[in-house]
Amino acid sequence: MLAENDGRKPLKTRGPVFVILLGPPGCGKGTQARELSKTVGLVHISTGDILRKAAREDTELGRMIQSKMTAGELVPDSLVCQTVVTRTSEPDCESGAILDGFPRTLDQAIFLCPKLPLRQTIVLNLQISRAVLMQRVLGRRTCPACGEIYNIHFRQPRMTGFCDRDSVPLERRTDDNEVTVRQRLLEYEEQIQPLASFFKDMNIRQDISADVDPAALASQLSVLVRAAIDASGKNLG
Ligand code: AMP
Repeated sequence: MLAENDGRKPLKTRGPVFVILLGPPGCGKGTQARELSKTVGLVHISTGDILRKAAREDTELGRMIQSKMTAGELVPDSLVCQTVVTRTSEPDCESGAILDGFPRTLDQAIFLCPKLPLRQTIVLNLQISRAVLMQRVLGRRTCPACGEIYNIHFRQPRMTGFCDRDSVPLERRTDDNEVTVRQRLLEYEEQIQPLASFFKDMNIRQDISADVDPAALASQLSVLVRAAIDASGKNLG
């Protein structure tokens, strides 16, 4: 937001705000990040989406990424970190961004933190009971054109199997099968403890229950992020 200052160069009243969304696969992180991006006007950066796009390329790198994703394993830190640096250097990230799926390991967090304005960074740690996760992941369907996320159990498109916006057939992610999801959850549980402690020690982590209605969760998240955006103006001064 820009303030008036008698016609000279506009004053900046806000610094960039970075939102880091943590949460297990299937907790609704992607859907919430997309929604937040619309309500608070920050760019949504999903490392999963960027990597899925790269995995479609018929190159050695594309095939390596695809095989990791299909196995439910993490893509090497160096590659993901570089991807995020490149993306966050683009002009649309000047006001900050919502990071969805990054950092995912302690090493990624250690790499990222010196690059962030920490007083203007919040970590929203979504927590959900394991019982509902499987159902959510296995019911997830995505539009290959716009990336919109649906769920056959609680977020159905108007016409079954087709995106509301693009009318193209919805797809199930190749890694949304029971075997891969179990592996992804194991991977997540192994990585989240040190990561969560790291952000707690920095005093920037907030734990939020994602075991609630997605609309209620969306408004709760947007209140928190708006407060961080408002505070960022004060932090500049
Ligand atoms: P997501 O869409 O966030 O569930 O991510 C899907 C897959 O992309 C993961 O299972 C990993 O294989 C890969 N991936 C996404 N983000 C990262 C990351 N920060 N570090 C390593 N691998 C990642």
